[in-house]
Amino acid sequence: MTTANAYDWLDRGLSAIHKAQWHRQETTFDGAPGATIAQDGRQFLNFASNDYLGLAADPRVRQAAIEAIDRYGAGSTGSRLLSGHRPIHRQLEEALAGLKQTEDAIVFSSGYLANIGVLSAIVGSRDLVLGDRDNHSCLRLGVAASGAHLMSYDRSDPIELACLLDAHRNSYRRVTIATDSVFSMDGDLCPLPQILDLADRYGCMVLIDEAHATGVLGDRGAGCVEHFGCGDRELIQMGTLSKALGSLGGYVAGSAKLVDFLRNRAPSWIYTTALSPADAGAALAAVEIVRSEPERRQQLRDNVTYLQARLTEIADDAPDTFSLLPSNSPIFCLEVKDTATVLRYGEALFDRGIFASAVRPPTVPTSRLRLTVMATHTRSQLDRLATALTERVAL
Ligand SMILES: *Cc1c(COP(=O)(O)O)cnc(C)c1O
Repeated sequence: MTTANAYDWLDRGLSAIHKAQWHRQETTFDGAPGATIAQDGRQFLNFASNDYLGLAADPRVRQAAIEAIDRYGAGSTGSRLLSGHRPIHRQLEEALAGLKQTEDAIVFSSGYLANIGVLSAIVGSRDLVLGDRDNHSCLRLGVAASGAHLMSYDRSDPIELACLLDAHRNSYRRVTIATDSVFSMDGDLCPLPQILDLADRYGCMVLIDEAHATGVLGDRGAGCVEHFGCGDRELIQMGTLSKALGSLGGYVAGSAKLVDFLRNRAPSWIYTTALSPADAGAALAAVEIVRSEPERRQQLRDNVTYLQARLTEIADDAPDTFSLLPSNSPIFCLEVKDTATVLRYGEALFDRGIFASAVRPPTVPTSRLRLTVMATHTRSQLDRLATALTERVAL
């Protein structure tokens, strides 16, 4: 008897991915990250970074990582509950709770693991999660890992979530509304005050993912919850150390009892190695910079306002080519006709020394150029992007 090679299906899978124009691979950049990045000695303007405040290469953040390695070593050697816990982890958690103005916080090894951990801990098979249809992949995977039922709603429909709660709240033990705060592939914000009101009315928990808002939104950089003035409401706030904070890791901030519960029940915190000293040290220095240098956030806001105006003009002048999605954040998306078009525009920008992400299905429902602004972009760099986009339209 001959048996087919058990891995042959990979060839078929890959060819299906290619046929759908879904195939992706890494682009290599060298050197320190910033508003410009280098490839083979050539400089590119960087409009694809989550390093909104330019802290990933900040000398103080780097130095803090080096000092943490010198003091605590490269690896943390074990999980937090065994040999992996260092004073720097607790200092970081206290600093994050201070930034978020919550009773406590807990750090995970990534934002992805934080969402999987918190959802597996707070809901199970008798429970329901209502999630925005555009939620990040790790919120969806977290629900799957928890065994809870998932129903999706569309935030642009003001009554859908209320109707779902009305129809289903009483069939489940616990219900959690889970949402990105800044939608990572769109740039708009969740309607947090309305979500919190519904949660109160129906007795639900709220889990908000502040990945793209931490350090960015709110006067103090605490995020979307601060932006909407909802800091006094009870909810579960998750975020990452790897975007505006320029390091690596994730956090959950909330009540002391929530954090204590997660230390005992979140599998992706209990059974994984503690965040490395370097990552913890870098994030701690970044939180301090977010606190002490509000001018960085102001610079970012100025850049956002400027680019928004330029992109609005560009989209208005070429309505058949670009449609600018609504945004209240440093993330801007120009929707284009199809996958082939977005890939072509991405390459055309790259040829002009501009790196922007061409995002397409299955990541998002429609193809779009996704542009992220940093505090450290100069006006002339933003103008170069706008000019290139305008020229592209003329071609
Ligand atoms: C990036 C991101 C995460 C994951 O955070 P990492 O720290 O990169 O793992 C979670 N949620 C959202 C909305 C994100 O954009």
